[in-house]
Amino acid sequence: MYNIYDYSLPKLEELVVSLGEKKFRAEQLFKWVYKRGVKDFDLMSDISKSFRETLKTSFCLIKPTIYQKQVSSDGTVKLLLELEDGDKVETVLMRYNYGNVACVSSEVGCNMGCAFCASGLLKKKRELKVSEILGQVLVLNDLLTSEGKGERITHVVVMGTGEPFDNYDNVMDFIRILNHPHGLEIGARHITVSTCGIVPKIYDYAREGLQINLAISLHAPNDEIRHKIMPISRVYPLNDLMEAVKYYEKTAGRRVTFEYILLKGINDSKKDAEDLAKLIKGTLAYVNLIPYNEVNEMKYRRSESSSVKEFMDTLMKKGVNATIRKEFGSDIDAACGQLRAKDEGQL
Ligand code: SAH
Repeated sequence: MYNIYDYSLPKLEELVVSLGEKKFRAEQLFKWVYKRGVKDFDLMSDISKSFRETLKTSFCLIKPTIYQKQVSSDGTVKLLLELEDGDKVETVLMRYNYGNVACVSSEVGCNMGCAFCASGLLKKKRELKVSEILGQVLVLNDLLTSEGKGERITHVVVMGTGEPFDNYDNVMDFIRILNHPHGLEIGARHITVSTCGIVPKIYDYAREGLQINLAISLHAPNDEIRHKIMPISRVYPLNDLMEAVKYYEKTAGRRVTFEYILLKGINDSKKDAEDLAKLIKGTLAYVNLIPYNEVNEMKYRRSESSSVKEFMDTLMKKGVNATIRKEFGSDIDAACGQLRAKDEGQL
């Protein structure tokens, strides 16, 4: 069975042609599915009867199902979704005044081993299929539809569990479906991928020719500190990462966002802020400071608000643009770094 949600339009065209059909059938099918939300192949009136028969016997539209739902006092919704094989992933809906943001997972578990992050407590079991990443947005759209206010997901951040650049091809196909005018039609600038710094993939991403945003989990102003908290930095040290960022800026014509979690006594001193300003000098990047969400099993603590302020002021004085990330859903463990498919079976 071919799950239509697994195919970007070019891939669906290839598939349809390989089955002996005309290429344009793929676009018709794509529009029925995403633009009109029709799932019953019999209703796809402009598709030939014979292809409709093929669709009925060999194609399906399968998305994850809701296993558990938690709603935060701020309206944030966290869903634990069950996939076809019983694996589970989390997805989060955040309501900003400018729109509804889906934070999607890209893998079951994560192998990056960042010392402060809950997602890595469960080692990577597998990568998610395109339909399983897209399915998270589709399920959230269903949820919004059921609220009856005519709202939809308007923005997507690939910042849930998993390292998106460790599942590059599927994440990119997912983005192609999100972004396509016949797909979910979410603007590239409303889509953000966050990576812990898999350097070769930053080069690939730069060459995609898309206007999607790139966020990089930096979290340290030098390799010494970064080595302690992010194992990936031993494979791709900061020098290589910064080169890649500059290449991205030049090639994609876009600036990156550096994410920087403030960990008490680890990376939050005035000197760290000065070093950070030095490190990113010469890039157009801006820094998104993230208040650390404490994770029970981990020793790290959130920085004092006075250190956060001093850190921010130091950056600003050095001419670095910085903002402090707004927090959502921490009362239901839906905030950054808290996603981990918490359930009897898993952790
Ligand atoms: N693997 C990707 C995608 C995860 S994004 C990446 O590393 O970018 C999740 C963001 O939340 C990352 O910037 C991550 O470093 C950050 N994060 C992880 N644990 C956190 C925590 N406990 N509190 C706040 N942010 C955290």
